[in-house]
Amino acid sequence: MMASAAKTQALSFFHTHISPSAVELVNQVLRSGWISEGVMVKRFESALSGSLGLRNPVAVNSGTSALHLALALAGVGPADEVILPAQTFVATGLVILMQRATPVFADIDPMTGNIAPASIAERITPRTKAVIPVHWAGYPCDMDEINALAARHGLAVVEDAAHALGATYKGKPLGSISRFTAFSFQAIKHLTTGDGGALCCLAEADARAAFSRRWFGVDRASSRPSILGEREYDIDAVGYKYHMNDLAAAVGLGNLEDFPQRLARRQQLGAYYREQLRKVSGLQLLRLDNDRTHAYWLFTVLVDRREDFIRKLADYGVPASVVHLRIDHNSAFGGTRPDLPGQAKFNDRQVALPVHEGLTDEDVEMVLNHIRGGW
Ligand SMILES: *Cc1c(COP(=O)(O)O)cnc(C)c1O
Repeated sequence: MMASAAKTQALSFFHTHISPSAVELVNQVLRSGWISEGVMVKRFESALSGSLGLRNPVAVNSGTSALHLALALAGVGPADEVILPAQTFVATGLVILMQRATPVFADIDPMTGNIAPASIAERITPRTKAVIPVHWAGYPCDMDEINALAARHGLAVVEDAAHALGATYKGKPLGSISRFTAFSFQAIKHLTTGDGGALCCLAEADARAAFSRRWFGVDRASSRPSILGEREYDIDAVGYKYHMNDLAAAVGLGNLEDFPQRLARRQQLGAYYREQLRKVSGLQLLRLDNDRTHAYWLFTVLVDRREDFIRKLADYGVPASVVHLRIDHNSAFGGTRPDLPGQAKFNDRQVALPVHEGLTDEDVEMVLNHIRGGW
């Protein structure tokens, strides 16, 4: 095939970054003989709040654990409804089912991929207990409007910021705005610990409860072993085995060192794509308001004839992916909802381009040239 002859080396869609200091710190932990939760987890948590401004980050073993812990702490249970967008990964919906609560899908703004506050308002009932806005691709949701609605109706806001570490909203970092914010440090997220996550809590009381319930409901920091050898504690609520371990924390701490530069590179690439793709026919950029900054875990655009677009780029070694289609179609969530017009529009046309720090300037020019050449 002609196109194959043109193919040089294929680019990767995601990029797993392990910094030299991550390797160094992991070696330190391995040599220390203490690999479970310990001092490295504390250091990682301090670095997350110190360098990124996250409020009371509680390190856990996945982003899903962080989301689930937040719903448990918010008291979400079988009689409750939780509002979420369908434009997300299934984890956002599954944590609601884990609490035996009912997921209620709100519509999104098709020009951002983010949940629409007006649609949340329409779906609030006396049973609504929480709302989970998802910052699609790393672009912050309308948090003022969402938090105002939540305050009026007594709802807990749990931000799913799995794509959005480093993004800001009206000058504040995500992770410092709502009652709860969950981050993921999974292998392909832009800060990785292998697997891991963090739950940020605005209230000290929530943070204390999160620290204890991430480890079976025992507060490790204040429970001491008795002469018999076991810690003294009293379990008063269901706790989980969700803590992060020191090996994972060492990877995260090391990777945090160059995170600002890597995030800046993604943001520079995002801005450059926007400038260069503005006038391409059949391609529409998403909206970017200037009161918030994008973390660019993904660079999502809307295109006509999406399969042709993906096929053409693939022929030249450029991966393009939807990453996630709407999740409501899964049987566990009851099947595709007919009442989400914004979601339907987005779902049919969205596709993401590679935007990570492993791309060279030449790679990016190559991607742009193939897109500008048409599909
Ligand atoms: C990655 C992701 C999660 C889950 O994070 P894990 O660390 O893999 O458990 C949740 N929500 C969204 C939107 C994600 O992309």
